[in-house]
Amino acid sequence: MSEADCLFCKFASGAIKPAVVFETDTVLAFKDINPQAPTHVLIITKRHIATINDLTPADAGLVGELFLAAKEVAKAGGLAESGYRVAMNCGAGAGQSVFHLHLHLLGGRKLSWPPG
Ligand code: 5GP
Ligand code: ZN
Repeated sequence: MSEADCLFCKFASGAIKPAVVFETDTVLAFKDINPQAPTHVLIITKRHIATINDLTPADAGLVGELFLAAKEVAKAGGLAESGYRVAMNCGAGAGQSVFHLHLHLLGGRKLSWPPG
């Protein structure tokens, strides 16, 4: 399923090509256009899911694949030992601006907690 006006669906289909760093049949990882850390990669589901609120039990494996992709990207980027953060914003109040499920992978600098 895709949405005609969804930017990340266009990335998933290849209609627009982001700077891809990792890909499987079900997920795509690419560099964020406005990086908040030396490494800032977005990992999206290829299928359109708007937010965490739209997940169903059938999506459990797919969500796991997002995290496994994050692990691979972090390892390839040399972040496995230094540390990194994965985060997913749900809803505008939490900072979500693109309503297509995505994990942020951030690393390469000291990350403060809580994120604010
Ligand atoms: P959100 O705010 O929804 O959690 O995260 C959306 C992210 O998408 C932001 O970090 C933003 O910089 C990124 N983004 C928005 N438009 C584009 C784009 O055209 N290309 C890429 N690579 N990232 C984008
Ligand atoms: Zn989409």
